[in-house]
Amino acid sequence: MNAIRTERPTWVEISLSALRSNFKKLRQRLDPAVSLMAVVKANAYGHGAVECSRALEAEGADWFGVALVEEGRVLREAGIKRPVFCLGGFSPGQARDVIEFNLTPAVFRWDLAEELNSAAEAAGRIADIHIKVDSGMGRLGVALTDMAEFASAIVKLRNLRVDGLLSHFSDADSTSEEPTNEQLARFEEARQALHSLGVDPKWVHVANSAAVHSYPRSWGTLARPGACIYGLERDVIAETAPRLGLKPVLSLHSRILYLKKVPSGTPLGYGRTFRTERESMVATIPIGYADGLRRAHSNRGSVIVRGTRAPIVGRVSMDLTLVDVTDVAGVSPGDEVVLIGASSGHEIRAEDLAEQADTISYEIVCGISGRVPRKFMSE
Ligand SMILES: *Cc1c(COP(=O)(O)O)cnc(C)c1O
Repeated sequence: MNAIRTERPTWVEISLSALRSNFKKLRQRLDPAVSLMAVVKANAYGHGAVECSRALEAEGADWFGVALVEEGRVLREAGIKRPVFCLGGFSPGQARDVIEFNLTPAVFRWDLAEELNSAAEAAGRIADIHIKVDSGMGRLGVALTDMAEFASAIVKLRNLRVDGLLSHFSDADSTSEEPTNEQLARFEEARQALHSLGVDPKWVHVANSAAVHSYPRSWGTLARPGACIYGLERDVIAETAPRLGLKPVLSLHSRILYLKKVPSGTPLGYGRTFRTERESMVATIPIGYADGLRRAHSNRGSVIVRGTRAPIVGRVSMDLTLVDVTDVAGVSPGDEVVLIGASSGHEIRAEDLAEQADTISYEIVCGISGRVPRKFMSE
């Protein structure tokens, strides 16, 4: 098949300078002794893991955090040299890949620890691992009550080295400090349990973005922010936490594909959920829920066209969305449409779309699908 000569006019722009600026602000927020793991799982929250990791590595990121072994492999194949941590550990059968791609996994399952130990032995290597303890999230991690037993078995595996201890907060963005304080106390107990076995790992980490903002005593030797690196802030950190003035890294754009004048009383889109109440100019935009603009934005969201806010009308469909551009002076086919981003004094943030769709900004940016090309801007 011949290459497509011109891409569809729906795209994401990633500002690498905003990314660098956010990274610097987080670095300045942290104590200089604390290392920083840039969490780049899920394709860097939809922002492009390889390009973002390269920029962050050049900026001095100490570690990269991914969810999956597959994601770690992508970074290694792109030439990322700094340590890559698998936050979710690895799945049965993947221990050889963990060794081959030099990834450092979270470990919390005995059978997987044995699998990794065997793979390391076969490769003639000592593999670094970080033990994950469940301090109150109830998700991955060894139960605190099993910690001493688990760790004393792990330290007997001769091809593994316990180089870290981690946990994860469930509520660091809450205005109530109680759950986080409780988790910190449990995390400290886990650290003590390791210490009694003579194990004092170099990397002690529990702080996500919200905790980088709000809980300096949780920073340990390594902080793991994700969302804040991408400039997501409003629904990421507690309302009362100090703002760092982060910049949104991602913007979402399209262009008017088709424009037509319709009479008052015209039904629009599937289910006819909108009917014009005046003679209207209706623009069709080539973006839909298969691109990550959610159906929840039907008759709810808005976009920016020629410096004017224009409402989404009717249902968002798979590939197409309608916008009422009656009030946009001089509107023409091909005009740029900003769905996330700033233009002529207006701004739409991922947090705004999240609020309208009753979700969080994380889900909005991760949900922008692979069929939307990413353009990396580095002014
Ligand atoms: C995703 C993730 C993070 C980063 O969380 P943010 O809220 O995006 O800062 C940190 N640690 C773990 C274990 C995670 O899964």
